Amino acid sequence: MQQEKLKELFKKNRALLNGHFKLSSGLHSDTYFQSALILQYPREAANLAQELAKEIKKNNIAVDAVVSPALGGIIIGHEMGRALNTRAIFTERVDGKVSLRRGFSVNDGERVLVVEDVITTGLSTREVIDVLKSIGAKVVAVVSLVDRSAKKIDFGIPRFSLLSLEIKNYKEEECSLCKEGSIVIKPGSRK
Ligand SMILES: [Zn+2]
Repeated sequence: MQQEKLKELFKKNRALLNGHFKLSSGLHSDTYFQSALILQYPREAANLAQELAKEIKKNNIAVDAVVSPALGGIIIGHEMGRALNTRAIFTERVDGKVSLRRGFSVNDGERVLVVEDVITTGLSTREVIDVLKSIGAKVVAVVSLVDRSAKKIDFGIPRFSLLSLEIKNYKEEECSLCKEGSIVIKPGSRK
């Protein structure tokens, strides 16, 4: 899917907004992405997963299981499992530590695809990869709907995203949008 077409789809569903936002991190940004607003439509979620699955198939990457971090990755992970005909499980944070719970497990040597909705710093993705490796999984690739890192992150394995965004983030006191007199909006990720 073309980047422009995808941007339009996200914008139409208000999953992608341009303006002046205060993020939950406290940083100010000119762009806001809320994957839940596009993934609330199962048909769109399934289509997006099909697009990501194409990349996996095109590159002949064999996958036995999809693992996504809760909460943001669960819906797209589930649809990736459907698209690739594998099971789809998820990690959760327990006392700050990434874990597989609910009886979920991976077998030794199992080929695992990590699925995210958005990758920003890549730190939490790396944590998921490390935990999976530590229990014997072979992590074969990482996919995400959106890459906010401008493709700067390297996990040492193949990585695909549908949309790569160059997003400007500012510390409040250095925000050029504030300096221009624009009013900052806090989008509702924590409502
Ligand atoms: Zn600002």
